Amino acid sequence: MQRGKRFSGLFAAFLLTGVSVFGQAQQPSHHWAIVLHGGAGVIERAGMDPKTEAAYRASLAEALKAGADVLDRGGSSLDAIEASIKILEDDPLFNAGRGAVFTAEGKNELDSSIMDGSTLMADAVSGVTRTRHPISLARAVMEKSPHVMLSGAGADAFAAQVGLEQVNPSFFFTERRWQSLVRELKQQGLPIPPRPAGAPPAPPVPVAEIEPPSAHKYGTVGVVALDRHGNIAAGTSTGGLTAKRWGRVGDSPIIGAGTYASNQSCAVSGTGTGEYFIRLGVAREVCNFVRFKSLPLQKAADEVIHKELESLRGDGGIIALAPDGQMAWSFNTPGMYRARQSEGGKAEIAIYNDEP
Ligand code: ASP
Repeated sequence: MQRGKRFSGLFAAFLLTGVSVFGQAQQPSHHWAIVLHGGAGVIERAGMDPKTEAAYRASLAEALKAGADVLDRGGSSLDAIEASIKILEDDPLFNAGRGAVFTAEGKNELDSSIMDGSTLMADAVSGVTRTRHPISLARAVMEKSPHVMLSGAGADAFAAQVGLEQVNPSFFFTERRWQSLVRELKQQGLPIPPRPAGAPPAPPVPVAEIEPPSAHKYGTVGVVALDRHGNIAAGTSTGGLTAKRWGRVGDSPIIGAGTYASNQSCAVSGTGTGEYFIRLGVAREVCNFVRFKSLPLQKAADEVIHKELESLRGDGGIIALAPDGQMAWSFNTPGMYRARQSEGGKAEIAIYNDEP
């Protein structure tokens, strides 16, 4: 038998027996669940006007619903993640896609990753400047290339080749993020680059800040999902940190740091000081605690955030989901934009640390 035929024979047998790589039953018997975040940080009631708060809650609810609808129709966890993150990437409130923060050179350089817990297939992109939906690009790298990580112009070229929407880099521009960059560069005594080509002219008076300018806040977005087949997955998308330099890459596109998923343990997406998340391998660490220490998901998440991350003085948070439906979030900042829902349950939307 030819190699390809033998492979397809095995694959058919695999489907017929209904057993996946990790022995998970393929009958659609699981209750779906989804958890998402839109970044952690100094997000406090005192600094947030009611209109802005309502806008964040509405955006989180919309993204949650998009993913939940996919899962409810029997769609895969990967499809749900992509559907939710695409909405957040298009939403200027979040630091991903349109509305991403700027580098010190005045560019939007986007990072994203996705991981399938049923196969351990995982892929990432960094420094993307032209692809409208970096999460879709991460997924395409996984499904249509032999590689695990692509960066910069090559990643955008691959996106164009596989037919993903390309945009002028000014598509990602928002006045609010530009002003944050100008403030940050002034504070650091660094030169202010010219406004990007294609950006609208500077407004005569600075746009009103929707949050206190001093707010130390991350706006990365991430989603973890469990589908009716019992498969979990995780995805993350970000613009990184304001005024990042020298091609800096954070944790979001690093598998094991900002994103991880395995049907044998859990799925995690993080937000926070990427440098610490990389050093601790935060996402994988949570999953290792579940798998090797048999910790309940919430306890594993809290151990990593409140003990390990804090001991390095890192800040941020994570969302997590286990194949048995346990959902968790944990953060050591005053707030984290977050939402979750499981089949038959209500959508929960939360921002501050005094909310459940
Ligand atoms: N973790 C991201 C990074 O370091 C930032 C964020 O969470 O917003 O690039």
